[in-house]
Amino acid sequence: MQTLFATGQSARSGSDPSLTDPLTGLGNERRFYAKVDRLIGDRADDPAPFTVGIVDLDGFKPINDLFGRKAGDDILVQVALRLRAAMDGQSTVARIGPDEFAFLLPMVFSEEAALEKAHMLIEILSAPYDVGDRTARLSASVGCSLFYSGEETTEDLIHKAETALYQAKRCGRGQVMVFTREMEESVKRLTRIEQALRKAISAGEVAPFFQPIVDLRTRETIGFETLARWTDRDLGTVVPAVFIPLAEERGIIGGLSQLVLSRATEAAARWPEHLFLSFNLSPSQLVDQNTAARVLSILDNTGFDPRRLEIEITETGLMTDSISADRILSDLRREGIRISLDDFGTGQSSLGRLREFRFDKIKIDRSFVSSILEDHPAEHIVRAILAMCRGLGIDVVAEGIEQEAQAKRLAEFGCRGGQGFLFGRPADAETTLAMLRQSIRTAASVHAV
Ligand code: C2E
Ligand code: MG
Ligand code: MG
Repeated sequence: MQTLFATGQSARSGSDPSLTDPLTGLGNERRFYAKVDRLIGDRADDPAPFTVGIVDLDGFKPINDLFGRKAGDDILVQVALRLRAAMDGQSTVARIGPDEFAFLLPMVFSEEAALEKAHMLIEILSAPYDVGDRTARLSASVGCSLFYSGEETTEDLIHKAETALYQAKRCGRGQVMVFTREMEESVKRLTRIEQALRKAISAGEVAPFFQPIVDLRTRETIGFETLARWTDRDLGTVVPAVFIPLAEERGIIGGLSQLVLSRATEAAARWPEHLFLSFNLSPSQLVDQNTAARVLSILDNTGFDPRRLEIEITETGLMTDSISADRILSDLRREGIRISLDDFGTGQSSLGRLREFRFDKIKIDRSFVSSILEDHPAEHIVRAILAMCRGLGIDVVAEGIEQEAQAKRLAEFGCRGGQGFLFGRPADAETTLAMLRQSIRTAASVHAV
């Protein structure tokens, strides 16, 4: 195993095991704090700012699982080497967590310079890593904070860099952020929402709404998609685009999902039997090996036929850990549950996924549907998706249909399924049941004529 000996100061840390990370030879968290403390002291009489940053490797855990622990360790050593090589004589890098590194840049005085340096580090870390005779790729996210005033402590600076890192991670992989006041506000707001959401889940206050999916030729409803809805007494209505990603991040999506699926299947058990129920699973649920058992146990409890259930997943869900996702989806499929690929066309390498995984249905993303009338490329893409799905024997639903002309055009192209405000907005269980009863009565009276 290679060990690193960094600058004179870091090499000193190598002689003190309590200040050294044994794997990489870099300083550890304690050493890093001590260095920042010292620099804050040095700057007491000299008001020049400096920069602290945290680098977090994106998706390191799947790499560990895929290549093994030894390979994971080798990669961490290579990461440390690259970071060390990118530091000048005055700068320091340390390992402060399993896949987290911190750097101190005494001569980086501005946000622009911090961003530039952080981007350079990300670039350096994105080159392939040798793992035996294979190579692995990694991306990294970085959060930075600048020291401006003597009142700030090391803890404050690192907390701010962590906040910036958290925001960078929320924006996807390979991002860099420098701390701002607004970030702090937004983090506080999210924490308030999280606390309220936790209470709402245990009080059963997140409800399933249902949006119809129709056969575009006959306009008959063939099923419904479940969409979670939540209104908090103080916060008002919080949209899924906010509370779903938050629930994922804070590890409460499992509880939320179980609540909504239980309620949804209870409601759907009262619908005519030919109607299916579609349910969204989040990417993090495809990494959790308990997901399939939980879904099946809910169906067991509510007596809902698994053959009437469709699970919607996105490509992001498959990318995180495809082996785990495959296992979960196979367990579900074995019981007769169908699998549908949501928001198709917006992810990465969509076509590759279609070879790797078996899908029963594809949902064409709203962005194509909304521009299908004006935009030639969108029209061609939709037609190509439809032709491909015909060839592969996969059903298709076009999402977000708002206009009659869009529905007509899609039907002409041979798209069978449609969903959107044109056919109905998401409605609660009671309204949905009333609507279904009404349409059964109407059909009966038409037949009687
Ligand atoms: P999605 O699964 O792609 O759901 C479709 C979204 O498009 C829904 O947004 C729906 O209200 C909206 N939509 C449907 N028709 C139209 C239309 O004609 N025009 C426009 N502009 N929008 C339309 P919603 O309910 O806000 O949900 C957003 C996303 O949140 C969903 O996207 C899904 O990814 C996620 N989500 C919702 N409920 C759940 C849930 O129970 N579990 C999980 N894991 N995710 C959920
Ligand atoms: Mg969906
Ligand atoms: Mg969708």
